[in-house]
Order: sequence, then structure tokens, then C-alpha cells
Amino acid sequence: MAINSATGKMNPEDLGFTLVHEHLSVGWPGWELDPKDIDRKKEVASAVVKMKEIRELGVKSIVDPCPMDLGRDVEFAAEVSDKSGVNVIVATGLYNDALGIPQHFRLMDIDGIAEIYAHEIQEGVGKTGIRAGLIKVASGGIKGVTPQGAGITSAEEKCMRAAARAHRKTGVPILCHNDEFDPHGSKSLDIFAEEGVDFNKVMIGHSCGVGDMRYYFEVLQRGAWLGFDRFGIETICSDKMRMASLIGLLGVGFDRIMLSHDALHCWRGRDTGVLDGMMKGSPNWNFSHISRNILPALRKSGVPDAQINTLTTNNPMNYFK
Ligand SMILES: [Zn+2]
Repeated sequence: MAINSATGKMNPEDLGFTLVHEHLSVGWPGWELDPKDIDRKKEVASAVVKMKEIRELGVKSIVDPCPMDLGRDVEFAAEVSDKSGVNVIVATGLYNDALGIPQHFRLMDIDGIAEIYAHEIQEGVGKTGIRAGLIKVASGGIKGVTPQGAGITSAEEKCMRAAARAHRKTGVPILCHNDEFDPHGSKSLDIFAEEGVDFNKVMIGHSCGVGDMRYYFEVLQRGAWLGFDRFGIETICSDKMRMASLIGLLGVGFDRIMLSHDALHCWRGRDTGVLDGMMKGSPNWNFSHISRNILPALRKSGVPDAQINTLTTNNPMNYFK
């Protein structure tokens, strides 16, 4: 199936080395009401420099799964893609209960939300004509920002079922945000199973910081993908632990895993300081860390190039296919 990239249709075979979870622009819901915002021209230019840098390192595509309520800016993504030559795939979907899901959507039923998701995939986001290439879902809290341990809330479940129905209508994949300290990978799959979703189209994201083999085995044995997509965020989990899990899984034959950083180019509205600690404690949290440090470390640990190619290139292609 052709993929909707921010700059038009593309074939899954042309994705190449893909970072499956990165962000060009993010803002907490309400940022757009803040008169203080980024210098757009400047931020586009510096994002282009960063994208050209990873292109030099072999990255051909990134997925920016920013949900519609978290500072998503598809025109920003398209401009950066156009000027840098890196493909960018943007998402539809809503964020978690604690931080996102505006009231308008809370008042809708599952099919109403699904209709909007499908519209963004088939017709485009707003009046931009830029189509979403995948659907984001989210559950759980964020350590240090919101309470944790609430399970999948009813509002989150409604958005998951809407994502499942929009997926069945359009065929695009689903990407799940989880809280590493209370992840809901298997419960999310239970909901998707009830909605008849093909698990080959589901990535259980933010899995690398979980560090629990039982969790990984269950998700993989059910046929979904694992996102090891926060390399560099040392404040959540050390890269050493991520590597231990990854090398262990590869060693016993599990390779349905995709890599990324969940790195962030710019923050919308004024800086509210939430990410300061995370940034300070994570000096390698950037778009090139996997290419520069993680892949060489995997090779040094004996992971063959063919397996690295599976993680970085073949898996994203098969997830979107
Ligand atoms: Zn993210």
C-alpha cells in the first residue's frame, strides 16, 4: 500500500533506513493560545540542518507521530522534508487522557472520532491537503508530570477503538505511546483484537524502557511490533538497559523491533521547563545518536549487519506495507 508522506505518496520500499518515532514540533495542549511562539523560519532552517545531518548518516525517512492535540504542525513537517530530502510521515490521532483529548472529542462517540481520523488520512489535515500516514494512540501517565497507574482510561479506550476503526477503513498502521513504568501493550492488543485489527499493523511504542522480558515476549508472540524508540533518554532508562534487552531479544530470534529516539526539535509556545531535567540528564538525546553510537555498539556486540538492516529498514517497510 502506498504511504502518505507529508510531501505526497511514496512506496514502502522507498522508506530506507527509518527512525520510527521522532518529533519536529511539539507543544502541550493550549500552546497555540500563547502569544509567544517559535521563530518559525529559524526553526525550519535548524530542523533542515539536523535532517541533512542524519541523511548524511544514512537515514532516509522519519515518522513524526505527534498526535493532533500536541503541537502537531504538518506544514512545518512538509517544509522541513522538502528542504532536507528526508521523508517525513505525520500522524492523526489523540494523546493520552492526562494531557490530551480535547473536550470536543470527549463528547463524540467512537465512530465520530474514527471518521475524523479517516478524513485526515484520506483527505488531509485541515485545509493543508497533507495526509496522515499513521494513527497515534496513547495511554498512561508521564513520570514527574501526571499521575500514573490509572490503567487505560475510558477516554483512551474510546480513542483506541476509533484508531482501530480508522485503520480498518484506511489500512494505515497504529503506533501506541505507553508509559514505561506502567505500560499497557498487551491490554492495548486486547482492545485491538476486539476491533479486528491486524497486529502486523500495530507498534507497541516506548517499550525499550520497560526492561521486562515477559512483556516483550507477549507482545512479540502475539505478532505486534516493539518500538525501541527512546534511545538517548537516560532519565527514563539507561541505554545500557535498552541494549541488554535488544541484544537479548535478537539473540533468541525476536527481531520485530524498530528503533528511534523520540527526539524533539522544537517546543511550541513559551518554555514551561518540563523537559529541562530530561534534556540535562540525556546528553545523547538527538536524531543522530542511533547512527553514531547505538548501531556501532550493536555491531561491536556481534549483531550482524543483516539484522541491523532488518531493524532499521525492513521492519518499517513491512509495518507500512
Ligand atoms: Zn513521541
